[in-house]
Amino acid sequence: AQVAQAEFVKSSVRTEDCPSDGLPEFALVGRSNVGKSSLLNSLVRRKKLALTSKTPGKTQCINHFRINDSWYLVDLPGYGYAAAPRELRTDWDKFTKDYFLNRSTLVSVFLLIDASIPAKPIDLEYASWLGQNQIPMTLVFTKCDKRKKKKNGGKRPEENLNDFQELIQGFFQTAPPWIMTSSVTNQGRDEILLHMAQLRNY
Ligand code: GDP
Repeated sequence: AQVAQAEFVKSSVRTEDCPSDGLPEFALVGRSNVGKSSLLNSLVRRKKLALTSKTPGKTQCINHFRINDSWYLVDLPGYGYAAAPRELRTDWDKFTKDYFLNRSTLVSVFLLIDASIPAKPIDLEYASWLGQNQIPMTLVFTKCDKRKKKKNGGKRPEENLNDFQELIQGFFQTAPPWIMTSSVTNQGRDEILLHMAQLRNY
């Protein structure tokens, strides 16, 4: 399940502009600063593959990376920029939700949640929306290497991720699969790739 080859294919603004070759894909999404670019780079073992600009309002795009010529990793813009103007947030909502609902080759959304801090309302909102719309989802807890800090609520990553799972229970018929990761230690890297391989073979 390793990544031998990874190449950036295209940035799309609308679902209908996404690649049309029918290869299966997995989308990574999460709050800005959750560690999405770090995880993406750790998955492909390459620095700076994630070409998405971090400036809100610039590349609010759906970015396709083709892996081993047989499937896609899709980088979606981070949500929850405190500084993003309201109309931009609405835009994000519109095109990513359209993508989730209408992209037929989407196998699973990988929702990234920062395990080093307590659950944020916006993360609960997205998990709830995905659950209620029955979009297949995998929970990826990031920054699991971080120690507990008083200012972050004083809980360990394990405690934060348990709390999160409890809070979203009601939104799902069956609890989504979940994986603990760290881009510092590469924890969870192989598990994610194996999980994606298993999902592709269903
Ligand atoms: P993005 O905005 O979601 O793409 O987040 P980045 O990948 O740029 O990471 C945001 C910040 O979190 C950076 O300062 C990273 O160094 C840090 N970070 C990302 N992943 C990890 C991780 O697994 N462990 C730790 N300790 N820090 C991380």
